[in-house]
Amino acid sequence: MSATLIKGKPIAERIRAEVAEEVKATGHIGLVTVLVGDDPASEVYIRLKHKAALEAGFDARDVRLPAETSEDDLLAQVAVLNADQEIDAILVQLPLPGHIDEARILRAIAPAKDVDGLHPVNAGQLFLGKPTLVGATPVGVMAMLREHAIEIDGARAVVIGRSNIVGKPMAHLLMQANATVTICHSHTRDLPRHTLEADILVAAVGVPMMVSPDMVKTGGVVIDVGINRTEAGLVGDVDPGAAEVAAFMTPVPGGVGPMTIACLLQNAVRCARYRRGELAYPG
Ligand code: NAD
Repeated sequence: MSATLIKGKPIAERIRAEVAEEVKATGHIGLVTVLVGDDPASEVYIRLKHKAALEAGFDARDVRLPAETSEDDLLAQVAVLNADQEIDAILVQLPLPGHIDEARILRAIAPAKDVDGLHPVNAGQLFLGKPTLVGATPVGVMAMLREHAIEIDGARAVVIGRSNIVGKPMAHLLMQANATVTICHSHTRDLPRHTLEADILVAAVGVPMMVSPDMVKTGGVVIDVGINRTEAGLVGDVDPGAAEVAAFMTPVPGGVGPMTIACLLQNAVRCARYRRGELAYPG
């Protein structure tokens, strides 16, 4: 068997075209990205997000702050952006330098502008089954599953990774779509026992090719969220050989990555609708 590849690019292009239409129709969507310090991986992500926002016609602002910025100064910056009527969506790139309390910064972002869905109110809405703003990566994965008409209702889904940005929201969205969800993490015993039962397996770990073909259920769906820079180039968390076992699989690169960018823009459109009063923010 050789899996059907779930490519993110064509779906992402469609979403980005829809977002660009929305910007044309409404005239203005303001997205600001805030990068503190000069972490090289974060720089790459910010550049990609910013480029995509500009291409969609956004008013895209790129705030760069030095690594030694104090927590209070960053809080003050966030307060200014919260109050700015031209800004619909705020993204503070993580990780922040160690001396800054990330949770405190994320809590300070106005929930209706929280494009990454990391404010406790948005995370709480997701927990309650009333998703408002949810992180772009898990939203993108759900769009990929829907695009390929993959049955989620009643499926066994296994998510490896329990981060706030990918693993946890992913598990919630799958549960909300009526999958039976298991979350595995670094303390999980006998990982293959779980993964082999997965009709849908989502790997969001950050360990190159840690999911080997013999950990994948025959005929299952494998979503590889991992992006790992190695000497051999960009690789995922799943060994590409798993495509010989799975029925569907996302490639790396070209799988989930493009969807994350596209769904971030889509989230910013939602933020703009909140600000314009076209959607009531439920928080
Ligand atoms: P994270 O480091 O915050 O979380 C990793 C999770 O993996 C943790 O919950 C940990 O418990 C679990 N884990 C670690 N080692 C494990 C092991 N041996 N067995 C089982 N579980 C283990 O990472 P993150 O931010 O969630 O990102 C995960 C990966 O996804 C990274 O490679 C990251 O670059 C990538 N990522 C990709 C996109 C995209 O758009 N494709 C977006 C976000 C993150």
